[in-house]
Amino acid sequence: MSLLKQSLNEIHKRRKSRELSAQDLLDASLSRIRETDDRIGAFLKLDEEGARKRAERIDEGDEDPGLLAGLPVGIKDNISTKALSTTAGSRILGDYAPLYDATVMEKLEHSRANMVGKTNMDEFGMGSSNENSGFHPVRNPWDFDRVPGGSSGGSAAAVAAGQVSFALGSDTGGSIRQPAAFCGVVGMKPTYSRVSRFGLVAFASSLDQIGPLTRNVEDAAVVMQSIAGFDAKDSTSADVEVPDYLSALNGEVKGLKVAVPREMMGEGVDAGVREKIRQALKVLEDLGAVVEEVSLPHSEYAVATYYLLAPAEASSNLARYDGVRYGARVEGDNLVDMYNRTRSSGFGPEVKRRIMLGTYALSSGYYDAYYLKAQKVRTLIRRDYEEIFQSYDVVVGPTAPTTAFRIGEKTEDPLTMYLNDICTIPVSLAGLPAVSVPCGLSDGLPVGLQIIGKPFDESGVLKVAHAYEQNGERLPEPRIGGDAR
Ligand code: GLN
Repeated sequence: MSLLKQSLNEIHKRRKSRELSAQDLLDASLSRIRETDDRIGAFLKLDEEGARKRAERIDEGDEDPGLLAGLPVGIKDNISTKALSTTAGSRILGDYAPLYDATVMEKLEHSRANMVGKTNMDEFGMGSSNENSGFHPVRNPWDFDRVPGGSSGGSAAAVAAGQVSFALGSDTGGSIRQPAAFCGVVGMKPTYSRVSRFGLVAFASSLDQIGPLTRNVEDAAVVMQSIAGFDAKDSTSADVEVPDYLSALNGEVKGLKVAVPREMMGEGVDAGVREKIRQALKVLEDLGAVVEEVSLPHSEYAVATYYLLAPAEASSNLARYDGVRYGARVEGDNLVDMYNRTRSSGFGPEVKRRIMLGTYALSSGYYDAYYLKAQKVRTLIRRDYEEIFQSYDVVVGPTAPTTAFRIGEKTEDPLTMYLNDICTIPVSLAGLPAVSVPCGLSDGLPVGLQIIGKPFDESGVLKVAHAYEQNGERLPEPRIGGDAR
């Protein structure tokens, strides 16, 4: 098994006994990237030199290496890094070099993880397949003809292919969980405000959250421990104590009440996916959990609500890319002409579509009919969950309605692409923590089980995911490119 496919804990043991150095880990990562990334396309750029220096420093000061010390990590390219340009997958940012590190980068540095590079993504996080990257698409390590999911597709593919020990992604409507499901890895979206957004390139600020993509649930707990917590630099950051996530992984799910929304198991969800979720629920039941069907009546409006609110916020957030302050600029006859040319050539088609949708929804005369109404529906969606959580500990269902689809299959019709997020978007609108954990294969492709928790109960979510992972179906290793199928 490739070195980087071992769990963080296994690697840590070998690091403590000095059997492995940070440099060994970096070598393993870089050679794996060289071997596979011309075909996968998970990385937009590498920081070999910086990573070498960091590895040396980590090895020098190595009394008792922490759990993340020296581990190669891939960072989604919408997370600001001083060491490497940050493009958010967009040509409009060009080679924009942030003057500061995002708070999560400072935290990872404190844990002495080692960033090897920045991962590919849909432009500004807008997409579910990585086909909207302004640079190049990413291929799913399980099958090169298929998408890795999005928008954190580069991060998910890098972990699945063993290029890095773990990665960070961001999730606005499913962008950590859905690619995790498609690539057969674990992905966690924390409660909104649990992880600082300082330094995250904004897409829809009331929804965006950074979170880990890892090989297993324990690793997700370790990374969460490093990145979670209050940050005065993010005005929405929550001052809520961060518990010990690892100690929550105690396997105790006996008597736990699990709600399965019928809306997540019905029409629009592939039969093969549903079957895998049923089997996973059976595993939880066998462990003593009480599984019951419930209803989230407003979730059918979630996708429509999201596609008003997220573009509205995006149209405002993206106004700053004007050719003056960041990245690319195309000169024009006058100031307005320069703005027009810069924005017309710098943004891709999906971003333009969202800016138009959002500007329309916010325009006077339509604001009440669209934006305000969508805000009200968002409240109803959140209340559905509040009610369920009065009687249940977690909500469980699929992460995505399908397995990884073919490259090009949904690019012609934005609506079918948007519908791939029906299982993740309601959770984002409600601001809840959720994890996607692999629960087997359907037609040779990974399926993700989504576990959703109460606000700030990442521990509860991770506990259930871990109990399932230890007792449920394990995925085989992907044979890169899909020759196993
Ligand atoms: N796929 C969704 C979108 O296109 C969600 C993206 C995300 O979570 N960043 O908006």
